[in-house]
This record gives sequence, C-alpha cells and structure tokens, in this order.
Amino acid sequence: MKVAEYIEKLKPYEGGKPIEELKRELGIEGEIIKLASNENPLGPSKKAIEAIKNVADKVNFYPDGDAYYLKDKLAKKLGVSRDNLIFGNGSDELIELIYRTFATDPKDEIIYCYPTFIEYKIIGMAFNKKLIELPLKDFAYDIDAIIDATSPNTRIVFLNTPNNPTGTAIKREDIERVIESVSDDVLVVIDEAYYEYAKAEDDYDELLDLYKKGNVIILRTFSKAYGLAGLRIGYGIASEEIVNYLNRTRPPFNVNIVAQYAAIAALDDDEHIENSIKNNQKGKEYLYSEFDKLGLKYVKTYANFILFDVGDDADKIYNELLKKGVIVRSMSGYGYKTFLRVTIGTPHENEIFITRLKEILNV
Ligand code: PMP
Repeated sequence: MKVAEYIEKLKPYEGGKPIEELKRELGIEGEIIKLASNENPLGPSKKAIEAIKNVADKVNFYPDGDAYYLKDKLAKKLGVSRDNLIFGNGSDELIELIYRTFATDPKDEIIYCYPTFIEYKIIGMAFNKKLIELPLKDFAYDIDAIIDATSPNTRIVFLNTPNNPTGTAIKREDIERVIESVSDDVLVVIDEAYYEYAKAEDDYDELLDLYKKGNVIILRTFSKAYGLAGLRIGYGIASEEIVNYLNRTRPPFNVNIVAQYAAIAALDDDEHIENSIKNNQKGKEYLYSEFDKLGLKYVKTYANFILFDVGDDADKIYNELLKKGVIVRSMSGYGYKTFLRVTIGTPHENEIFITRLKEILNV
C-alpha cells in the first residue's frame, strides 16, 4: 500500500501499559498497580456509575449531537454561555478538530514546547504540518522562545498547563503575553486537562476568562479528576465564532450517549471531586517526602503525576518495576533518560510503588 511519506514516518501513540497486558506478558499473579496514565485512582463518581446503568437501555438511540443537557449544566457551572462550549470524544479529538479546522494551509506552522502532551505532535504530523518544537526551560514552557518563534505562518500555539509530563504550570501573565504577541488569526490553545488538580494549589492562576479573547480555546476533560477516561469525553471553552467553526468539522455524534449522561452526573458530585483532590494532595506530600528520603530529585507538580529522576537508566528501572507489578512511565523516549513519571495513586498504591522502588534501588 502506498502512503504519503509523512504518514510512513508516524509512530502510533503509546499509552500506559494496560494491567491485562502486563498479566498476559509477564504472567504476574499478584496485585498489579497502574500509575501510568494519570487516571483517577478513586474511580468514577458513584453518581456517574448510577447514570451509566440508567442509560444502558437507551443505547439503541443515537446520542444528542448537541449534548443539550450536558452543555446546559456545564455552561451554568462555568458561568459561560452554551455557545462557548464544544465537546469531544476526549479532549484528544478536540485537538484533532482544531488542526482540521484552523491549520488548513500547507505553510501553516504550529508551535509548542517539548516534552509536552505528545498528541500535539502526532496529530500535527498526521496533518503534515510544520511543527516548531521548542525545548522546555527548567521543565517549563519557555514563553520568550515561543514569542520569538512566531512568524506570519504561525496558526496554532499549544500551551499545556500543568504540562504533561513535567507538572509545571504557566503563569497567567505569560499566557497573556503570548496572546498579545500573536495576530487575531493565531489560535492559542490552553490545554488544562489537569485543571481540577491544579486549582488546589494556591499559586495556580485562574485562566477561564481568557476564552473571551477571541483567539483562545481552553481544553479540559472528564478523563482525569472526574474519573471517566474510559468513556472519552472532554470539552473546549472558546468564543462563539471558534466553537461555530469547530462544529462544522466535528463528526455529528462524536460524544456517545453513555459519556454524556455520566458527565452530567459527575458534575453533580462535588464530594467525589473534593475527595479526589484531597487524595492527590496527600499522595503528593507522601511521595515528595519519600523521594526526599531517597535523595531522588523531582519536579514540583500541579497535576496528579510527578516527574522524578531515578539517577539510573529510566527504561531499566521501568522494566524492573513492571516485573514487580507496578506500571509507571519511562520518560527516556522524551529525552529524559533517567526520569520516570508516576501517577499519584491511592495511599496503598503509593506505598507499594515506593516499597518496590526501594527494593530495586537497593536502599
Ligand atoms: N491533554 C493532556 C495534557 C493530557 O495529558 C491528556 C491525557 N493524557 C489529554 C489532553 C487527553 O485527554 P482526553 O483525550 O482523555 O480528554
């Protein structure tokens, strides 16, 4: 089969290893813990589970393509108009729709710092775009470098805050500097997939109102703190104009009926979100203190994962953890040859992770 060279060069996205795959591959019988994909370790909200059961007998119907009730509920919660919201099959899909809608010329350039969420790159390559990939500075987005790199061909700038995989946040004034430095025809994407966790930190800046700027879209998701990653639902907040254009390229039934009802119920469950955030804050303190005791360096995180330096070959330690039933992420593929990224789990999962890590590091 003949395909374009840029498709030939693409490598499919590699997610965290599923628990079932590890069981199959290594024949591990005991407990396996997955701290690899920044999922909510407390599971979904009980209200969402109930909603999922209740909608089961309606899946013969197509979903509401406009997500009417969900849109209403979320608009009220955020204090925005319904027309400022768009839903995606995960925020992943919104990234794709953004490319499809706003980067349509072969000359278009896309800017982001790297390492960051890899889909900006993979989808950009799939659309054969010119990707301007700038290095992070001290593990954080380098705003001056971004502004320097803009050109008349710039179409999209991705800003990921907190940034996956480093956990660092971008200050509001820096985001505003980017928005002010580009023309109104450049879309600034603020990917806040970890927003609910980030806002628990005192010095995380609120960014929501920036959607009013007219060339900004804020992306959030139900996959992380809301615990619905398996249902695939995320959303964008943007001007009516941007939402309107994105709706033209959006598949009509992109968000399934189960996801819509589960998200509505999840939005009603403040207690679940509060517990998830508390668990994350406690887990973070525990892991920080254990890393300190082990003399391992880590990056202060605003999210539900921690990037840390094992001081040894990351792939080697990753594989040894796998053999002991602990799935994390090696960052060697991102150029961080001695770094792992661990999702903050339940207290029990965090303890098992630290115990296994100590066994491997021999301390
Ligand atoms: N953005 C960032 C920064 C992420 O880390 C992720 C998930 N790993 C996503 C977007 C995609 O999330 P989803 O498609 O599940 O909404």
